Formats: sequence, structure tokens, C-alpha cells
Amino acid sequence: MPCFVDVILPLPLPGSFTYRLPISYETEVQTGSRVVVQFGTKRYYTGIVLRKHEETPQGDYEIKEVTEVLDASPIVQPAQLKLWQWIADYYMCSIGDVYKAALPSGLKMESETLVELNPTFIAEAPLKEKEQALLDALYINPKQRVQQLLKNTPKSGMHTIKALLDMGAITVDEALRQSYKPKSEVRVRIAPDYRSEATLTEVLTTLRRAGKQQELLLKLIDLTQCEAPDYMPRRELSRTQLLKESGMTTAVLNSLINKGIIEIYTVEIGRLTDSNVHHSTHLSPLSEHQQRAYEEITKSWEKHDVCLLHGVTSSGKTEVYIHLIHEQLRQGHQTLFLVPEIALTQQMTERLRRAFGPRLGVYHSKFSDAERVELWKRQLSDTPYDVILGVRSSVFLPFQNLGLVIVDEEHETTYKQQDPAPRYHARSVATMLASYHHGKTLLGTATPSIESYYNAQCDKYGLVQMSERYSQVQLPHIVVVDIKDEQRRKRMYGPFSTLLHDAMRDALNEGKQIILFQNRRGYAPMLECSACGWVPKCDRCDVSLTYHRNMHQLVCHYCGNVYNVPIKCPSCGSHTLSKRGMGTERIEEEVQHYFPTARIARLDLDTTRSKTAYDKIITDFQEGRTNVLIGTQMISKGLDFDNVHVVGIMNADTMLNFPDFRSYERSFQLMAQVAGRAGRRGQQGHVILQTRNIDLPVIHQVVAHDYNALYTDQSAERQLFSYPPYSRLIYLYIKGRDEADVIRASEAMVSAMRTCFAHRVLGPEAPAVARVHALHIRKIMLKVEPSLGVARVRKCLTDIQQSLNSQDLLQKVMIYYDVDPY
Ligand code: ADP
Ligand code: ZN
Ligand code: ZN
Repeated sequence: MPCFVDVILPLPLPGSFTYRLPISYETEVQTGSRVVVQFGTKRYYTGIVLRKHEETPQGDYEIKEVTEVLDASPIVQPAQLKLWQWIADYYMCSIGDVYKAALPSGLKMESETLVELNPTFIAEAPLKEKEQALLDALYINPKQRVQQLLKNTPKSGMHTIKALLDMGAITVDEALRQSYKPKSEVRVRIAPDYRSEATLTEVLTTLRRAGKQQELLLKLIDLTQCEAPDYMPRRELSRTQLLKESGMTTAVLNSLINKGIIEIYTVEIGRLTDSNVHHSTHLSPLSEHQQRAYEEITKSWEKHDVCLLHGVTSSGKTEVYIHLIHEQLRQGHQTLFLVPEIALTQQMTERLRRAFGPRLGVYHSKFSDAERVELWKRQLSDTPYDVILGVRSSVFLPFQNLGLVIVDEEHETTYKQQDPAPRYHARSVATMLASYHHGKTLLGTATPSIESYYNAQCDKYGLVQMSERYSQVQLPHIVVVDIKDEQRRKRMYGPFSTLLHDAMRDALNEGKQIILFQNRRGYAPMLECSACGWVPKCDRCDVSLTYHRNMHQLVCHYCGNVYNVPIKCPSCGSHTLSKRGMGTERIEEEVQHYFPTARIARLDLDTTRSKTAYDKIITDFQEGRTNVLIGTQMISKGLDFDNVHVVGIMNADTMLNFPDFRSYERSFQLMAQVAGRAGRRGQQGHVILQTRNIDLPVIHQVVAHDYNALYTDQSAERQLFSYPPYSRLIYLYIKGRDEADVIRASEAMVSAMRTCFAHRVLGPEAPAVARVHALHIRKIMLKVEPSLGVARVRKCLTDIQQSLNSQDLLQKVMIYYDVDPY
């Protein structure tokens, strides 16, 4: 019976692909194994086996053979494959897209397998013709890529290579076979021949004339703790360390190595740093409120798989999480703890580390790919981490015994992946993940998303509330300042109202700290010619450029392109280019101007590019080395500082005026969260909220800490206009180089969709930024009632796309879907 495998390939094509499995691999390969297969005539890919079966594929095409099997045991678990399939179905992308996002690239072999001739090989038996042909090709060029070699020797196949490999005639370059390489270190030690008093004395004497070599050897002996009588090295020493500590050059070291006095050797070292932090399982006892919440959560899980914990900022949600995780550990279960961004991981790592020590593993975007591979493998091993703290993509990690997923700050939009596909929401994926493991999910936040709160209202989720801060600290006092009025009365100090200015002054005098929130980075969001109104825009995107003073350049925040600042207006020639609006860089300058002694730090995308920069900014502020922290929405996310007395929201209007049905929800969340950073210990904090829209209800909801009012308002509005959660939104994006193609395709798409979905189709429209990366974009919006199952909608859309494709109406454009867009 021939054996076949259906394989997932990292391609944006629907479905899986069938290959024949050579008999020699039949037992080895299982669901979840990685295999190398050929796709098309040239390309090789690492695929994941979705299914092994004996059904000969129907159809009129050639079934290729699996080229190679990479793993002795599967690298992807059945539950993960099930999750991938769910994501592909729900978010309308290919399972290949999910695979690409899920697996660290170090586990996806590049098609760069090198075959090398073994020059000392002597055949013991006559070779087959195919084998000889392949060797002949290698005699001409002894190191070749697999594809190239097979092309040069058309009669031979992967089996020929395998046979030659077994004979020892060739070798396959293992280092290049996978882009993941274990990390190794070169170490040095004294060679065995010189490990005695007599030989050492002799060599040191002969080296007298080579003073530097003698000195280096003595240093080595010292650092590796070689002692009489056996002169065995008692400490390991890396080559780099020896050079650094001795101050000698490589040349000096090399001559000792060449003489055989020093030997080098390599050792593999892991990249995952297990903390040596002293770890006690001592937990802070929960307060009465927290204990009640803990019990309610546990109780709600008897009835619901998902529980929403709505607890005001600083109510101690994290403490409750820690106790829940602890209980999972006691029962022998793993926990996945999701945080919205790397931004949060450092403080959270410290807190969880104190409670769980070496049982905690961390996974985030600033980790190298190799570190991700190691974590992945560790989670499959016999000693996986029991608690994983990670960002969005950690929902893709393997788990052996997952009991609980916690989604902290569940309202955060960073949980939704925008580009590329899969455009998934980690909150939804997390609840699926938990359910596949028969585990529970906890969503925690001070400002729930309208969707989650709605699910709690409908009894789909359990709901637990914590309305008091830990140790009765009061919620911050929020004052609204009308900056329109302040400006008219000339009471502004640059961007600061008198109230904010005075509050900052007093706080600094009292040794307290300040956070300023400005949701725009750079110096000036816009440059404008005062004479003719010309504004510099990106060549590739329809957006104006932001001026960055540090670099003295203009930057496109969509594609990252950088431009020089024009000396004069290219439109009218005038020299009066002025800077409009204020970004974080500018606010920093203004603080410096009004408070020259303030020690200022800025937290935004520009200051946190490196792995350590973010941590340093946070730690400096935490430990009081800086006293004013200016930031974008990065500072709104659950940070916990002791000494922040004043929070200034510089300008609420840029958020409020954003044209999106979520903008009030989002503004409320941002402002409430930023405000929540104030006065977390002891004294009540002050928040000054500057706006030109003092009459908007949402402003009053923020001031009154009234989430329920926000929810009531917003949910009424969403119901009226059929927005989520009252309908499911699907956006279709059509992109292409040529605008006419894009328009034609989107109109064809819309009219076809109307026959199926009638009034539920809106558009096509040009989105707010209608050109990005030199691609024109049109957007079609589909609003469907949630009762209209995802599968049916997907079927209609793919049918439409197929039929239009066959009529050549979708030429030269690409179409993709964004389900539940943010
Ligand atoms: P949230 O996550 O709800 O914003 P946190 O868990 O960060 O709140 O708690 C706010 C502060 O109060 C933290 O500094 C935390 O250490 C402290 N805290 C909360 N609960 C306790 C507790 N049970 N014992 C000791 N300290 C606590
Ligand atoms: Zn001009
Ligand atoms: Zn651009």
C-alpha cells in the first residue's frame, strides 16, 4: 500500500499538498513532522505533515516524493495543527500563512542543503549508474546545492543522494541544513602534553625570548587554575575571555596554538538564560477583595470557559493572576500569560520571576530567532517551562499540559496582528487554544473592550469585578482643562496649561515624578509652508511626513522612508517652512525649557529600538534616576511605578478625532490607563487632561472613572449602526500598482458581493491612507450578523473570487481579508 502525506507549505495558497512517502520513511514520519519537499520545478520547502494516509490522490498530476525527513519526533503537536486550521478558516487566510507566522524561522529549513564530495571515499562495490553520475558531477564541482545537483544529474533523485550518504561517499552540510545553529563557544586550555611541572618549566624557559607568548601562557595557567601536581585546568575559559583579560593579540595566541601548547575546543551553550535569582515560592497574601475575586473567578470557571476580570487600575489583578497560576502549578498544569507588548514584559518578568523562579520562560519579539527555537524545543522536551510569559505570538508555542491562559490588558489593540496574514486576534486565538487543551481563559483589564464586556453581559463569559485599589489608595483625581480657552486667555506655557505647569513645578519641588502622554512621536507631525500651504508627503504613501529633530530628517510613519528637510518650499520657493503640531521630541524640548533641572526620559518607538533600551528607560524611572517620563501609548500599558504624582494628557483630541467607530472606546481606554499610572501608592495622584472638546461625554466618563457609562453609550451606538459586537466586520483590501486595475477589481468584487450579501456590503472606498508602499488600496466593508456562520460567508467570498478570477477581472491585484478588524 503506498503511503502519502498531506503537507502544509509556507505559501499563501489554500489547503495542503500531497506527496508520496518513500518506504524507508514510513515509520519515521508522523503528523507534525517536518519534511523537505519540492514544489514547482526548482523550489524546496520545509513542510509540516498534516496527515499521513493511503488514499491515492485523484487527479491528473504527478505526485512527487518527500525529499527528506527532518525530525525523529514531531515538532508540531496535533492540538497546534488544529489551532492553525481554525485560524486559517476564521481569519480567511491559508494554513501556510499561519505556519509561516507560527514556526520560528530557524525551524524552517532554507532550500540551501549543500552536498559535498568525500574526497577519500573508495567504493566497496560497483556503483549504480545514477550514483556514479552524481559523483561525477561532484568531481567537477565538489560542493553543490541539492537542487542544482539534481538538476545536473536528471536521472538521479533524492534516493541516490541518500544511498551515497549511507555509503559515506558524500556529506550533507549540516550547518546549513537548518538556519538554526546551536550556539557554541570556543574555549582554550593548556594541551595535555604540557600538564606537568617538568614540561611546563621547560616550555616557559624556551618562551623567554617570546615575552608575550610567555605572558599569555602564564595568564592562561592562572585563569584556568592549573595547579601542581597534575596541572589540570579547573576552570573553563573562553578564547575571547583570555584575549580580553590578557590584552594580547590573536597572533600571539595563534602561535601558541600552532606550537601545540594551547589547545582549543568548542562547547555548545544554550541561549535561554535561566535566572539565578533566588526564588522562594512565597506569595503575598491576597487582600480581602482580591481573595473574593480569586474565588469568584474559580467559581465562574465551573460554568464558563472564559472569565473577564474587570478590576480598576492598581486593584492588584497581577497578584490575583499569580495566585491562580500557583494553583495551576499545584495541579501540574502549565499557564500561558499574555501581555500586549514587549513593553510590559520586563516589569512583569520580575514579578513573575519572584513567584515562579526557574519555572518561568519568556518569549517576545526582541528575542533572536535562535532563542525562539530553543524555547520551542524546550516546550516539547521533558522539562518544559510551566509558565510562559509572552506577547501575541506565544499562542503558537507548543504546550503539553495547558491549564490556563491569562490575557492581561485584554482590550489592547496590539493583540490584533495587522500585517501580514494571519491577521489574528490573540485574545480569540488564546481562548481557542485553552479550549483545545480543556483549560480556562482569564481576560483581565481595567477598561474592557466593548466586545468582551458584551460577551460578559450576554453570559457567554463569566464576569468578576474589583472596584477598589489595593490598600484603599484612591483613584486619581482627574481635572479637565480647556486648552482652547487657555490659549485665548494667554495662559499657556508652550504646550502646558497653567494648571499642568504648576502641578509639574510642585511635584518636582517635592521630589515626585511626572508622566506626560502625547500620542505622537517625532518632533513635529507636520511641516508646512507658511506662504503657500505646501506640506511634504511621502513618495510612496498618501501621508504627510513627520519631522524628527534628532536626525534632522523627515520620516514616513507608514513605510519608514526617510527624507531630507527641504531648504525652501519646492512649490513656491519661500523659505518659511514652519513646524506644526507637537510630537514627543518637541514636548521633551518644552519640558527642558520650562524645567531646566528636570531629568527627562522619552519612551516611544524611536527610543526603544534595541533590546535593552526599553528596560533601561523603565528602570531609570522606577529607581528615580529620571523624574519626567514622556511617552506615546507605550506608557499606558500596565506599568507600575511608586512615585508618580502627576500625569498630564497633553492633547486628547488627536485620539478623539480619529475617524473610526472604536475611537471613543480607544480614547477612554488610553486615558483611563494613563491616568491609572498616577498615585499607585499612598497619596492620591493628579491627572490633568488637556482638550479642546471639553463637552464630549467620553471626557466626563474618563473623569468620573465611569466605564459603565462608556459601555452603555458605545454599545447603543454600535447596535444602531450595526458595528461589532452586534455584527461581524470583514474588510476586504484590494491592492495593486496601477490605480485603474484596483478600481476595476474592487467594483467587480462589490457588485458580485451584492448579489450574495445585498445591503451588507459597503464600498469600495479609498481608505484614509489610500496608497502605502507605492500600492494603491481600496477597501470593501462587509457587515454580517453573527448568526450567519463564518463558514458560509467564507464560502460565498471564495466562490466570488474564483468566478471573477476565471473572468480575468482580478488581474494584477491582490486581495486579502481582515476579519474582526481593529
Ligand atoms: P493591577 O494589575 O490591577 O494594576 P497590581 O497587581 O499591579 O495592580 O497592584 C498594584 C500594586 O499594589 C502593586 O505594586 C502590587 O505589588 C501591590 N499589591 C497589590 N496586591 C497586593 C498584595 N496582595 N500584597 C502586596 N502588594 C500588593
Ligand atoms: Zn510654499
Ligand atoms: Zn511612506
